[in-house]
Amino acid sequence: AGSGALSGTTPLDRVSDFPAIPAGWSYLDTAATSQKPQAVIDAITRAYDTTYATVHRGVYQRSADMTLAYEAARRRVASFIGAGGPEECVFVRGATEGINLIAQGWAERHLKAGDRILLSMLEHHSNIVPWQLIAERIGVAIDVVPLTQDGRIDLDAMAAMIQPEHKLVSLAHVSNVLGSVLDARRAADIAHSVGAKLLLDGCQAVPRVAVDVAALDCDFYVFSGHKLYGPTGIGVLWGRPELLEAMHPVQGGGAMIDRVTFERTTYAPPPARFEAGTPHIIGALGLHAAIDYVDSIGLDAIHAHETALVTAARDALGRINSVRLLGPDDAAGIVSFVVEGVHPHDVGTILDEERVAIRAGHHCAQPLMDVLGVPATARASFGVYNGRSDVDALVRGLERVSRIFG
Ligand code: PMP
Repeated sequence: AGSGALSGTTPLDRVSDFPAIPAGWSYLDTAATSQKPQAVIDAITRAYDTTYATVHRGVYQRSADMTLAYEAARRRVASFIGAGGPEECVFVRGATEGINLIAQGWAERHLKAGDRILLSMLEHHSNIVPWQLIAERIGVAIDVVPLTQDGRIDLDAMAAMIQPEHKLVSLAHVSNVLGSVLDARRAADIAHSVGAKLLLDGCQAVPRVAVDVAALDCDFYVFSGHKLYGPTGIGVLWGRPELLEAMHPVQGGGAMIDRVTFERTTYAPPPARFEAGTPHIIGALGLHAAIDYVDSIGLDAIHAHETALVTAARDALGRINSVRLLGPDDAAGIVSFVVEGVHPHDVGTILDEERVAIRAGHHCAQPLMDVLGVPATARASFGVYNGRSDVDALVRGLERVSRIFG
């Protein structure tokens, strides 16, 4: 890790903020999960060390203080993504749970047989399978938007495909495999032209591009904290207030009720309605610290930095004969490629020997692998701790792959 000077961008040199990244190790798997800055680790440790208690129920001061901290984290999330208010932000385990909650709590209630859902060819399995699970149960059909040649969701095709039967469109804001960035505003306009709602899977977008749900004009937005330099087990579902209000709880338990009797139970308003049980209190505090950390650098600076790294990586990899690059040149922070004649797992194993950690596999996007005509890809993805030296290490490792298999 470590950052050399990159032309056209302010070099970020943040690797010293990350205690789990030793010198000489190139961590290029941020799209799977990001490493954690000391500020996040400290926030979590401090809470367990000094201020820990439950939320929402305690009559004692410590619990009241923790409740304030938990709700402050929700306000921080709301301001970070441009939500209208904290009550529009539900804490979930991650993007997967957020999408499943919308599928079961909203779609299953409001869609009926004959309705259709529109997805794209590049979606993560967590934005495919939850819809298949409910589609079968309520008799709705799923249509799939194709991709452009360079691996973007083809919005012209989407505009031609969309029909009044489409009630929901659910798309990745940034592809976890190709790094392609969706023109989300245009996708929202197309969805809304037939009255469909737009859900954006923001897992890979939130750490890489400034997100403002109001400007995007989407209807639901989900993301996971662990890809945003925060802890695992915490994520966010944002929804327009009227949609959350119309959503049914999926899990029952403590904290999500208004009044319980054996005859009839009424539910709390959102977001509490969807947060049954003792929540991931420390996760929320860790996410708060992560957002503060990211904002202290600034998403525009992060985006410029990662774009410069993608450009450097694509330039250098493009010069290796056996490497075939996938996805668009202006990908956000992610570069997928194949080495002709070498399985991506072998690529990953040899790179690991060179102290370069990449991801190899189908990246939970098997339909996309079918479109690309490969069983798997190798994927390098960047974060604030990466620099030019990591791109150089990747290139050196791939040259060794070429020599071994050449
Ligand atoms: N969508 C995308 C685009 C992702 O990259 C991921 C994580 N790889 C997910 C959804 C699922 O996120 P999680 O596993 O944190 O729930």
